[in-house]
Amino acid sequence: MKPVLALVGRPNVGKSTLFNRLTGTRDAIVADFAGLTRDRHYGSGRAGPREFIVIDTGGFEPDAGSGIYQEMAKQTRQAVAEADVVVFVVDAREGLSAQDHDIANELRRLGKPCVLAANKAEGMKDAARLGEFYELGLGEVHPVSSAHGQGVRALVDLALDALPPVDEDDADAEDDGAQRPIRLAVAGRPNVGKSTLINTWLGEERLVAFDMPGTTRDAITVPLERNGQRFELIDTAGLRRKGRVFEAIEKFSVVKTLQAIESANVALLLIDATQGVTDQDAHIAGFILEAGRAVVIAINKWDAVDSYQREQLQRQLENRLPFLKFAPVHFISARKRLGLGPVWQSIGQAHKSATRKMSTPVLTRVLLESVQFQAPKKSGMYRPKLRYAHQGGMNPPVIVIHGNSLEHVSDSYRRFLETRFRKEFDLIGTPLRVEFKTSH
Ligand code: GDP
Ligand code: GDP
Repeated sequence: MKPVLALVGRPNVGKSTLFNRLTGTRDAIVADFAGLTRDRHYGSGRAGPREFIVIDTGGFEPDAGSGIYQEMAKQTRQAVAEADVVVFVVDAREGLSAQDHDIANELRRLGKPCVLAANKAEGMKDAARLGEFYELGLGEVHPVSSAHGQGVRALVDLALDALPPVDEDDADAEDDGAQRPIRLAVAGRPNVGKSTLINTWLGEERLVAFDMPGTTRDAITVPLERNGQRFELIDTAGLRRKGRVFEAIEKFSVVKTLQAIESANVALLLIDATQGVTDQDAHIAGFILEAGRAVVIAINKWDAVDSYQREQLQRQLENRLPFLKFAPVHFISARKRLGLGPVWQSIGQAHKSATRKMSTPVLTRVLLESVQFQAPKKSGMYRPKLRYAHQGGMNPPVIVIHGNSLEHVSDSYRRFLETRFRKEFDLIGTPLRVEFKTSH
């Protein structure tokens, strides 16, 4: 499980600039769950070799009337509850403000590990100016410049070093997919039917028996077996529906969802047929894709829609989730137990596809046959020459094509090759990355 870092501070201190810097190195995978968790942005962050999930709380204005920060209560506090460590951002140029004091008091009350970042500190020689932030009583003041990247990596190192170590699952590192259970994340927005489906699978008694985790970084996994194949369901917060442990956290936890997807082998994306394919569904789908996970789509509550809605849904899937064309789609009813068998088959198949080994000779044969069928177009003076292919990775499978002038291969030709490889190796339900490597 990746640790979770929340950025907290008053508006304009540079939280979103810092967020963009932390997530930007990996194309800013931002799961912005607008509507449900307004003003909170979630992203995959990286600083040097360290990976984490980062939450940007947007910022909050003091409610002068009541003296209570409404946004603090609603947004920031939830983000803090979900986080392992808080980065409290203040503005080094403006200096200490009354609001900073209020936030510091609130953070102290919430009792999460906290590091203090004095942002916009580029070119500031005046250490005395930073000295005033010690008044906040949160310890060391760390000058950073989010805009220029100065001090950011050291800040993150410090924040993450403050956390207790997690037991890493060593088994994950082994190159042996056969005997281990398939790790499955049931992902979807609130009320799509995740708990119903899982309860249907497991029976209620077994569910309540599971230990509650101590921290947000401990995942609950539920073992389960189908047709001789072992599975591990990874909690996406829905499992804790009846639990009393995380009352501070809403039932639907974006962090849990993202972490479950990251640590899964296969994600089952559940969509509510009665609501259609929403923006939030698309956000979760996008995150699954960015994480490179194998994915199966299940449209739930099929029992509750008429034939017109069914037709609409099929179109919505094509229009709104075109990037998941490779994912098998099933229409199910978790409540009425309809259509569930084929879902398991697809999950198994998606996992097999994601971990498929493809030998260099066969890959190269498929490549050369494809070129023979249809050669890449000349681009200006260059005609790309595709020579051979090898497998560059699994989970998701990566196919690396070697040759000359490959930077001139068009995107449509890349997709053509992808389709050929998918067909030849029976790759269903997994993303496939086709990369080019030009030798000079
Ligand atoms: P937020 O409201 O806390 O998310 O703040 P923003 O990230 O939107 O930043 C507010 C303003 O501060 C913007 O104009 C940024 O360009 C600026 N800013 C952010 N980080 C830095 C920094 O490191 N140095 C300077 N000089 N300006 C910054
Ligand atoms: P979660 O928030 O994703 O865990 O969703 P729940 O499992 O709590 O379900 C939300 C609501 O949808 C509940 O009222 C369920 O009874 C209902 N529901 C779940 N599955 C189905 C289904 O297959 N058909 C219909 N009609 N309702 C369902």
